[in-house]
Amino acid sequence: MENEAKTPKTLQEAIVFFSDPDRALAFAMILRWPDGKITCPRCGFDQHSFISSRRIWFCKGCKKQFTIKVGTIFEDSPLGMDKWMTAVWLVANCKNGVSSYEIARDLGITQKSAWFMMHRVRNAMQSGSFGKLSGEIEADETFIGGKSRNMHVAQRQRRITGTGGKDKTAVMGILQRGGEVRTKVISSRKKKELQSEVRKHVEAGSALYTDALMSYEGLATDYAHQVVDHAVQYVNGRVHTNGLENFWSLFKRGIGGTYVSVEPFHLFRYLDEQMFRYNNRKEMNDADRFQAVMGNVTGRRLTWRELTGKMEGGTCVN
Ligand SMILES: [Zn+2]
Repeated sequence: MENEAKTPKTLQEAIVFFSDPDRALAFAMILRWPDGKITCPRCGFDQHSFISSRRIWFCKGCKKQFTIKVGTIFEDSPLGMDKWMTAVWLVANCKNGVSSYEIARDLGITQKSAWFMMHRVRNAMQSGSFGKLSGEIEADETFIGGKSRNMHVAQRQRRITGTGGKDKTAVMGILQRGGEVRTKVISSRKKKELQSEVRKHVEAGSALYTDALMSYEGLATDYAHQVVDHAVQYVNGRVHTNGLENFWSLFKRGIGGTYVSVEPFHLFRYLDEQMFRYNNRKEMNDADRFQAVMGNVTGRRLTWRELTGKMEGGTCVN
């Protein structure tokens, strides 16, 4: 393909590059079908004709049409690939996050469309790696939420009348020093839940550093478990959880500033976004991160119903 070698390196270049629908399509095709073999997303057949004026394929197997969007996070979206790819670039690379209001302004779309779009992009940022972490591991929890500004009145009332910590959501993090971080929204900080997360994600025999929370007691049978009592000190040689502290503060800065009042139900998506950027920070530039997300868009459809089904007020700020 003529533009294959010319990959955009900056946001500005990306916007110009993807503003040409044919160029955007050609680029998305390379990422979707790296071996050049275009197959029907519905039936898998590889015989088809391309209708270039409409940028659609007609499958000779199932006799249906398909676009580059079918079977991806872009499916059923009326927005063009130029807008989608610019949005992917922004979400993949803005260190402290980008709000749906900014995306809406930049792309000339409504805030609601931008909000839905960004959650679909976050869906493609979900980690696909399930191998166990090893080496030096930090485990820690934090509480997120509780800001009452910028919330809808009903929601604010519900939260104000609730008891103190009720509107906070607990999140657990497990970090391999020099490697990956993983997080999970948890229902409690009880032993059973925290320890099962550690066992699920960390290879036996690894060095494990936690604070003095009782819930971690008993892990020493499988791990070289060392505790730093935060009531006394935060660092004791290599025994500390500062890597996670940094991750939490970066995350909280993002949702406190950019994503004001995140619904607890959606929290894991913002965590996915922050984890993606953290886990793809080394030896990767903006273009690499963009391509990593674009290479992950297939088979991860997210519908409006799935996204908003569990929301109480149906609000979509952030
Ligand atoms: Zn087909």
